[in-house]
Amino acid sequence: MKVGIVGAGMVGSAAAYALGLRGVASEVVLVDLDSALAEAHALDIAHALPFASGTSIASGDYDRLRNAGIVIIAAGSAQRPGETRTDLLGRNAAIFRDIIGEIMRVCPDVILLVASNPVDIMTQITQVISGLPAGRVIGSGTILDTARFRSLLGAHLHVSPRSIHAYVLGEHGDSQVLAWSSARAGAVPIATFATQVGAPITESVRAEIDDRTRNAAYTIIRGKGSTYYGIAAGLARLIGAIRQDEQAVFSVSIVTENTEGVQDVALSIPRIVGREGVTADLYPELDAQERAALHRSASVLRGLFESVPL
Ligand code: ADP
Repeated sequence: MKVGIVGAGMVGSAAAYALGLRGVASEVVLVDLDSALAEAHALDIAHALPFASGTSIASGDYDRLRNAGIVIIAAGSAQRPGETRTDLLGRNAAIFRDIIGEIMRVCPDVILLVASNPVDIMTQITQVISGLPAGRVIGSGTILDTARFRSLLGAHLHVSPRSIHAYVLGEHGDSQVLAWSSARAGAVPIATFATQVGAPITESVRAEIDDRTRNAAYTIIRGKGSTYYGIAAGLARLIGAIRQDEQAVFSVSIVTENTEGVQDVALSIPRIVGREGVTADLYPELDAQERAALHRSASVLRGLFESVPL
């Protein structure tokens, strides 16, 4: 399957590299306003691929994306000094209008994977502009937050994160909700198992895991400016699931009809992902506090989306 990537910055190029190392795409095409940057990344990654897989990589203009099954949108513009978040959103919405028009021109049946931040709003903007069904416009959402939550729980309980079933819901951002009440180690509720193995989830353990899940990105940004390897690996994993029609569960962001009474907002809940994109939701059981927090998260996102001039 051909995979296009629009925006060959840190996230886009790291995603191309991850796709090449995993060999999940037959061909990767990088497109960027800065064509020299896209070309340089494509060349550099091309030199890594003989050590890794049969994936081929190229850069080019939008016509090179023709017949791509999936296009990642990782383009964006950073906040300028003095610019409000809403101004930035307006500017990115205008950029997206151009990009999505070009993509739809050459691959109208594509699945779009949105990685640009704020990812939930950009996903909703993409869905509106493209006119694609909601299940074919997938934001990376909280896939990374969920992975962090699982690793921290796994480390605390000495269980592989792959055998921890727990999700981060809502916004990929400050209002996200860690779904503690439905978290399981194997099939056993987390709190029960934690007590059994003598590592109870006390208030302070819970607060620390919450804080480290929620604020991990800030720590990385302080140290090196931005985050990209984690999200790149997550995008490659999602593309693997789409290509193999896995029907695997990921906490991705799509426009959702009703979230705790809030209508039409893109946010993450666990969803089934396969060849057609997202085909079903697995809305977890939540306690009253989590429901209220998810309602808040959805309301924050709805408010932000309504502020975007579309
Ligand atoms: P990130 O860390 O999110 O990847 P970067 O700034 O490294 O952020 O990358 C964003 C990329 O998006 C840049 O390479 C930039 O040239 C690209 N870009 C910005 N606007 C457009 C656009 N309209 N079309 C294509 N690429 C764009």
